[in-house]
Amino acid sequence: MADPRGFLEVPKKEAKYRPVAERVQDWADVYEHSDNPIKVLDEVSTQARRCMDCGIPFCHSGTAGCPLGNLIPEWNDLVRRGRWDAASSRLHATNNFPEFTGMVCPAPCEAACVLSISEQATGGSVSIKRIEKTIAYESWAEGVIGPEPPESKTGKSVGVVGSGPAGLAVAQQLTRAGHDVTVYERDDRLGGLLRYGIPEYKLQKSDIDRRVAQMRAEGTTFVTNCDVGTELSVADLQARHDAVVLAVGAMEARDNPVPGRDLNGVHLAMEHLVPANRECEGDGPSPVTAAGKHVVIIGGGDTGADCLGTAHRQGAASVVQLDYNPELPGQRDDGRSPWPTWPLVMRSSSAHDEGGERLHQVAVQRFVGDDDGNVAALVLAEVEVTRGDDGRREITPVGEEFEIPCQLALFAIGFAGVRRGELLDDLGIELTPRGVIGCGSDWQTDAPGVFVCGDAHRGASLVVWAIAEGRSTARAVDEFLVGESDLPSPVRPATLPLTVR
Ligand SMILES: Cc1cc2nc3c(=O)[nH]c(=O)nc-3n(C[C@H](O)[C@H](O)[C@H](O)COP(=O)(O)OP(=O)(O)OC[C@H]3O[C@@H](n4cnc5c(N)ncnc54)[C@H](O)[C@@H]3O)c2cc1C
Ligand code: SF4
Repeated sequence: MADPRGFLEVPKKEAKYRPVAERVQDWADVYEHSDNPIKVLDEVSTQARRCMDCGIPFCHSGTAGCPLGNLIPEWNDLVRRGRWDAASSRLHATNNFPEFTGMVCPAPCEAACVLSISEQATGGSVSIKRIEKTIAYESWAEGVIGPEPPESKTGKSVGVVGSGPAGLAVAQQLTRAGHDVTVYERDDRLGGLLRYGIPEYKLQKSDIDRRVAQMRAEGTTFVTNCDVGTELSVADLQARHDAVVLAVGAMEARDNPVPGRDLNGVHLAMEHLVPANRECEGDGPSPVTAAGKHVVIIGGGDTGADCLGTAHRQGAASVVQLDYNPELPGQRDDGRSPWPTWPLVMRSSSAHDEGGERLHQVAVQRFVGDDDGNVAALVLAEVEVTRGDDGRREITPVGEEFEIPCQLALFAIGFAGVRRGELLDDLGIELTPRGVIGCGSDWQTDAPGVFVCGDAHRGASLVVWAIAEGRSTARAVDEFLVGESDLPSPVRPATLPLTVR
């Protein structure tokens, strides 16, 4: 039974960040690493005491809580009692890669935690993400995590296209179920957006390498530098495998063709983040660096925040992040986003603590270039955001225009959906009006034997959803191949099929 007075006696304590002045000098993990791990484990155990083991644990599943159905109250109780091995086993029962989510998940579980109903009264949610992360890293440190090869083989073969968190999750589940699984990745390294989107200071890439090594030892095969559709034809892919899973992400970036968009120094966010991550991998200096420049990030979301942290580490002269939306309140507004839903509040990441300025209710009107065709300034206008009759967002300039210096501009305004190409064309798959790949309730696309999961199906989303969809699709593929499955299925497809199958 849980500690009935835990949250009344123990104040919430989050993991500490390293000092700003130190962390912006390097790409290492933003969190402080203690040289006394026992003290950290004791502190996290004490934090786990705050969990009430609720009769209805809103943290654990449902529309608001954890998409993976993580058994949060169970592992909180085990951690409270110092049973780290058992906690690891319960954590891995629902999540293939808890160190990924422990590092980068925005933690809908914490927003849905019963202690979040009144943060003033309770002192805030249980620090679920910190506990998850500590269990995962402690399990690696103690050698608790190892390969789990299947006891027997089915003789069936699956090709997974894409090695992001969705592709890795579906591949690990299917390999453990006894199928021969090959993951094809067009990049030179594995991990998808975990590798080349999310910056090194948020997720150390050695964490991905360690999981890939575990998967190889279990029997998963990986093929890199292989663009399926061109370097490996769809006909060859289908001839090699009994089933195919598309985990190709949704990386078609949104752009804004304002005057001056074609000046040198105006880029999409990924043109900044990918080479920065490559530089950390030892591939040489990034051609799109913020060093010494006045940087403007267009877009107030998480990708923009990653550009901000990256620009700080590259030594930007100044960074401004623009958002056309009004500033959100600091506290949950029960009228707009009542508990346990995801709260619409002003969010600040570790990168925002490191400096830079945020401007709200402004939109870029045009870029101004110098005589050499380089961007030198950006013209902004104050704007008002309204919804038209059709529900579409309308952005109307309402104030005077003004100019700010800008030598590097980064568009971080979201993703339009899946990138089209030979792969989808040759499979005869159309995108839905949302720009993603539709599927039936069995995760199968309009192409027989071809399944989909992750961002390719949901649109740009979160790592936790990619893993959850990968796990669910694995069960559907297992059933398709052998008629039944013991694999779990935490989530259902997000959209109904566009065509009747
Ligand atoms: C900058 C950035 C920061 C983010 N930060 C966070 C965060 O902090 N927390 C969080 O939860 N989420 C974050 N996300 C979202 C998260 O990374 C994605 O939701 C998640 O990675 C989706 O996983 P996926 O496996 O579906 O696709 P992806 O990770 O996009 O992987 C798809 C893979 O498929 C490969 N591929 C595509 N087509 C082919 C082909 N034809 N042949 C072979 N390979 C192919 C691609 O190269 C890629 O490696 C972030 C996203 C971005 C862009
Ligand atoms: S909702 Fe919060 S307090 Fe309740 S079981 Fe989940 S983590 Fe514990």
